[in-house]
Amino acid sequence: MNILVVLEHSGNGLRRSSYEALTAARILGGTVTGVIIGGTEAQIASAGAYGLTSCLNITSAGLESFANGRAAAAIAEAARKVGATYVLLSATSTGKDLAPRLAVRLEAGLLADCVELNADGSAVRPVYAGKALVTVRSTTSTTVLTLRPNVFTARLAETATTPTIENFSPSVADIRSSVVTNIVRNEGTVDVAEADIVVSGGRGLKGPEHFTLVENLAKALGAAVGASRAVVDAGWRPHREQVGQTGKTVSPSMYVACGISGAVQHLAGMSSSRIIVAVNKDKEAPIFKVADYGIVGDVFDVLPKLTEKIAGVTGKH
Ligand SMILES: Cc1cc2nc3c(=O)[nH]c(=O)nc-3n(C[C@H](O)[C@H](O)[C@H](O)COP(=O)(O)OP(=O)(O)OC[C@H]3O[C@@H](n4cnc5c(N)ncnc54)[C@H](O)[C@@H]3O)c2cc1C
Repeated sequence: MNILVVLEHSGNGLRRSSYEALTAARILGGTVTGVIIGGTEAQIASAGAYGLTSCLNITSAGLESFANGRAAAAIAEAARKVGATYVLLSATSTGKDLAPRLAVRLEAGLLADCVELNADGSAVRPVYAGKALVTVRSTTSTTVLTLRPNVFTARLAETATTPTIENFSPSVADIRSSVVTNIVRNEGTVDVAEADIVVSGGRGLKGPEHFTLVENLAKALGAAVGASRAVVDAGWRPHREQVGQTGKTVSPSMYVACGISGAVQHLAGMSSSRIIVAVNKDKEAPIFKVADYGIVGDVFDVLPKLTEKIAGVTGKH
């Protein structure tokens, strides 16, 4: 059985979620091949520690800038080349964009946003905004799976290898698609979907100027800043920080919700976090139903004290 894992680069290595996908691929127990678009030797080599032995490096013309339609066409060709039974992607924004396109091209079943993967190819995924979990299995000969970031732990393989790299240039010139022409990077900020710790703020902060309380706590914890939709809609915070059904899905090791009520649409994006801490002045707030640790109190009192204590331990001010 052949498994193709779609890898995304980040600096000199890969995105953490790609190492997670490589680790998850080992559950299925077949031959794993990676595929990357315009990867460097160093980026591909970094995956050797996670068991990758061979990788197709897509070098097709027209993919110098990311173009979803063309990228999906090229990856579908890679899947055909290796005879992939499974194509694994991380459910990042890129993975979510590519997966359905790949499924159509490969006439494959799509199991999206999986939080568990079993050796028989079945997978568990949340439905109804996280209210229930279903076990699903695809009945097609090829299956495309996306894996929720931060849920599968990236584990080093028993023996590290140096993956062989094959440059692969399928022709994708004629595909009509949108092309990314400019990328504005938010240097220095951790993507909320990939952060190990997230501190989010809601309407309880009363105004954008008070988000420094959330930012300071995040800094002390080395965390990313998240937000509820209410504050994003109000223009207090950018949409990239929104957590929830119409924002990002996060599964950090710790999620701290400050002045957030815990509406079902917010919970849909964060309830799979390993530890949930809530600060809310209303002891009946629904967020406390999912919280492992709850502080009933005013964010204006609690957050500065918490930040001071934590910064005293971590040394991050
Ligand atoms: C289709 C749809 C999609 C949606 N998608 C999303 C989504 O992706 N993400 C999302 O977050 N929401 C989403 N929503 C909106 C969601 O229903 C809620 O309206 C939103 O999450 C509320 O945000 P909030 O908790 O910040 O505000 P509120 O619900 O107003 O809660 C504020 C909380 O702060 C507490 N508070 C007030 N003052 C203080 C204080 N001084 N100290 C401590 N606590 C205090 C209050 O007790 C309250 O619990 C969606 C809604 C719909 C209909």
